[in-house]
Amino acid sequence: VNDLHNTCEDVHIPHMPPLLRGHAELHLRNGVMRASRLSAMHEPDAEKAFFVADLSYVYKQHERWKRCLPAIEPFYAVKCNPDPYVLRVLAALGTGFDCASNNEISRVLDLGIVDPSRIIFANPCKALSFIRNAAKAGVEMMTFDNVDELHKIARSHPRAKLVVRILTDDSKSLCALGTKFGAPLVTVPGLLSTARRLNLSVIGISFHVGSGCFDTSAFADAVAHARTAFDMGKEAGYDFTLLDVGGGFEDATFEASARILSEAIEHYFPNRESIRIIAEPGRFYVSNAFHLAGNIIARRAPLDEGKREAPVPSDEDSKTPRVMYYINDGVYGSFNCILFDHQIVHPHVLSMGGSFHVPSTEPLRPCSVWGPTCDSIDCVCPLTQLPTSLSVGDWLVFENMGAYTVCAASQFNGFEVSNVIYTSGGGAGSLEVRRILSDFSTASGGSDFEIGGGAG
Ligand code: PLP
Repeated sequence: VNDLHNTCEDVHIPHMPPLLRGHAELHLRNGVMRASRLSAMHEPDAEKAFFVADLSYVYKQHERWKRCLPAIEPFYAVKCNPDPYVLRVLAALGTGFDCASNNEISRVLDLGIVDPSRIIFANPCKALSFIRNAAKAGVEMMTFDNVDELHKIARSHPRAKLVVRILTDDSKSLCALGTKFGAPLVTVPGLLSTARRLNLSVIGISFHVGSGCFDTSAFADAVAHARTAFDMGKEAGYDFTLLDVGGGFEDATFEASARILSEAIEHYFPNRESIRIIAEPGRFYVSNAFHLAGNIIARRAPLDEGKREAPVPSDEDSKTPRVMYYINDGVYGSFNCILFDHQIVHPHVLSMGGSFHVPSTEPLRPCSVWGPTCDSIDCVCPLTQLPTSLSVGDWLVFENMGAYTVCAASQFNGFEVSNVIYTSGGGAGSLEVRRILSDFSTASGGSDFEIGGGAG
């Protein structure tokens, strides 16, 4: 953590700008960023949902990466979460970056501390103008998986260092990418002979086992495919020097995936002195670093409306939500991960009846959680276990909200994307959110947490 604090200083995190809309101004105090000045809770949108990002988690994941895969250089997949402070910490730690667009390349280069050689343009199907722009920015490494891309690159970036993205089995991953990208092995010789004819430099092979890969054996299978592609390169007169093992690394199975991947590399590439091995991890670095606090802005108890307390449900209706809670972020916002990334999210109670001392004895009952828009698809949890006595103004927290969330959030219906509050001094998950939330309530006198009051 001391190293992280130094890193934060190196990359000027102490000079953070005030959070959007004057919600909170952050500064580094004793190495820990805290919400120090908070606007009154009666401002418009005062109860706005927000993320707490623990940058020490990103740092710890990098340490874990180096421990398990010391010979593989991580190129963080910016698409997963392009948060500027995550990028700064990773840049300072020396990772490379996988970018998919002009904008992502600019975000990384604008940090001012990343050389373009630390970027791979890992989108196999790029607009011509994007390729031209990459050339101008000095980004040379880029992937391709089709002949047309080779012609575009020959025209606009003839000095590019090309990497063939091959197709591998991603059928067991959360998000299969092979339906859209990846050259089947049988097409690789043809692609390479076109590349040769166009006088292009092809330096290696990349693959992606699919995002959210719990099938650790997929990595070994993919390395075997890469070996075949390397041999095809030799046949075509290329001497490949790069193997890019892509992303897909899951927190829960990371050590197992790393072991299987390392063994496969050892087996298929025993003489690899001249081969640089890189990877494109995304969610591994950020999933658990971000937690989202959502405010209960409305509630309905359609079955029990008018009764003082919801009756204990019988077995038959244990699947019927007793209370519908409406929070101020949903599937059109940060919870787009439910639709696009096939995630199932679980809420924890942060405050109850305005108090942060949630009684542990409160019985949990089937409830549902909804987003704020007027669309009925905007459901965060169709069925979850929560107390039925949460009030309007209470807070729920969702952990593991760092990957493919805020980056794809829209402003549908006029709901703004949730802000981020940063900390470099990791309390564990919801504890850290609770601490920051109680800063909010203290600074605002706390009374506004009692909107609607009591058990509703
Ligand atoms: N690289 C490429 C080309 C991708 O498309 C993706 C995700 O879609 C990633 C890396 C990151 O994958 P993950 O977040 O599963 O590690």
